[in-house]
Amino acid sequence: MGNITFTMIKPNAVKSGYTGEIIQRMVAGGFKVRAMKMTELSVKDAQRFYAVHSERSFFNELVEFMSSGPIVAIMLEKENAVENFRKFIGATDPAKADEGTIRKLFGENVQSNAVHGSDSDENAVIESNFFFSEREKF
Ligand code: ATP
Ligand code: MG
Repeated sequence: MGNITFTMIKPNAVKSGYTGEIIQRMVAGGFKVRAMKMTELSVKDAQRFYAVHSERSFFNELVEFMSSGPIVAIMLEKENAVENFRKFIGATDPAKADEGTIRKLFGENVQSNAVHGSDSDENAVIESNFFFSEREKF
């Protein structure tokens, strides 16, 4: 198991002012920040980032949402990071997420679910490299 995962604080959570509290919870949860930046995805960036979902019914809405405002991109380190982080953030749909998880606390609905979490070690590396150059990783 790898020790790196990638997360984004999504536009709804940034707009609502939850950035600081979400980062604080990640750190308190044992995830170490290895790289971080606030930025905004263009429509093309969002299409490229979520290319695996291009056939899904919600793809266009997802792209529109993810490019609707600033996001915070973060590369995190912890043992078994991908699996541990997905447990930590909870189910995709905040209504189904366990109590105390990030999506339960800060998610609005299945689309505006506050944070992203990589689904494999391979994607954690691909997604981190999408946002960070080598000299932006610590
Ligand atoms: P993420 O990849 O953001 O960590 P996830 O792995 O839990 O989330 P995916 O199936 O990869 O879920 O879906 C990617 C994103 O697409 C979700 O986080 C959510 O923002 C959006 N999404 C997923 N399912 C739906 C849906 N049924 N309707 C609208 N948006 C959805
Ligand atoms: Mg996913």
